[in-house]
Amino acid sequence: MKKQEENIKFYETNYDIIGQWFLRPTDKMVLGDMANRVCRFCGKAKPYVTFKKFAHAIPELLGNKSIENAYECDTCNEEFGKGIENDLGNWSKPMRTLIRIRGKTGVPTLKKGGDKPGWRIEYDQTKLNITSYENDPIFEMDEEKKLVTFKLRRDPYTPVAVLKAFMKIGLTLLPDKEVGNFSGLMAWVREKDHSKLYLSQCPVIYTFRPGPMPNDLIVACVLRRRQNITGFPYAFIVLGYGNEVFQVPLPSDNHDGQISGQSIMMLPFPVPGHPDSAFYGEPMCDILNWMDNQVKKGDIATIQMGYESSVPVELPHASQDGQSMA
Ligand SMILES: [Zn+2]
Repeated sequence: MKKQEENIKFYETNYDIIGQWFLRPTDKMVLGDMANRVCRFCGKAKPYVTFKKFAHAIPELLGNKSIENAYECDTCNEEFGKGIENDLGNWSKPMRTLIRIRGKTGVPTLKKGGDKPGWRIEYDQTKLNITSYENDPIFEMDEEKKLVTFKLRRDPYTPVAVLKAFMKIGLTLLPDKEVGNFSGLMAWVREKDHSKLYLSQCPVIYTFRPGPMPNDLIVACVLRRRQNITGFPYAFIVLGYGNEVFQVPLPSDNHDGQISGQSIMMLPFPVPGHPDSAFYGEPMCDILNWMDNQVKKGDIATIQMGYESSVPVELPHASQDGQSMA
């Protein structure tokens, strides 16, 4: 059986898709009841909290302009925004810049500041502009293989906070009747002290899909284990944007006790819409471990791209004077 078919079979047997979205910026929808607003995260309603802000079900920095939710109060919205979503933003910024994901203030700009030799990548209407200086290159080119390798520094982030930010998206997309199964997870995701442990392990399945992908499409699925099935995690949020797919467990206090401490074989969820893998190569899978609660500084994201067959990056040769060459 081919890999993709095997994965489809695995999910058909073991999981139900209890929520699914394919979002473009022009799609608009609201989750929940705007006339009867109670915050899912802190449990409060008016007059104890307000609901004046637009609460994105998926952070705007990932390109979501589509789904709003009626059940996130302004206080929680603000806390998430300056907390875990900021970590998610810093962690994901290098890739979002390269694949031109449009957030609140446009496509992010990467720069190494100061007037010393450095570099800058920004998006200018139609293409990426890359400014670099010879003694501090940010990319290496392999002209024979037509590959470019970027080495981009991430702004400081705390890995476990990035994990919580993905889980928060999952908790937001859950149907109402499932929320009660995740009260422990809900409390942990809201906890600002990241040294407090709730899980000992929580591997995230990461898939990179090579080839040209739309930069304004977000795919989100909530998966829940089928009723007669045991031995697999109860629920996942699967989120795909650009070339990346993240499959993040949503551990349930009520339904995951039996698998605690066990080693489990999972296959990655087959998100539809891969570019032609015969031409661009098979999707690459990896396991991300984001349980670390120490702030990471100076972390380097290494991103490799084929420059004819992937994003339309125009690559300059390194320049001494630092002019933008693209
Ligand atoms: Zn709240």
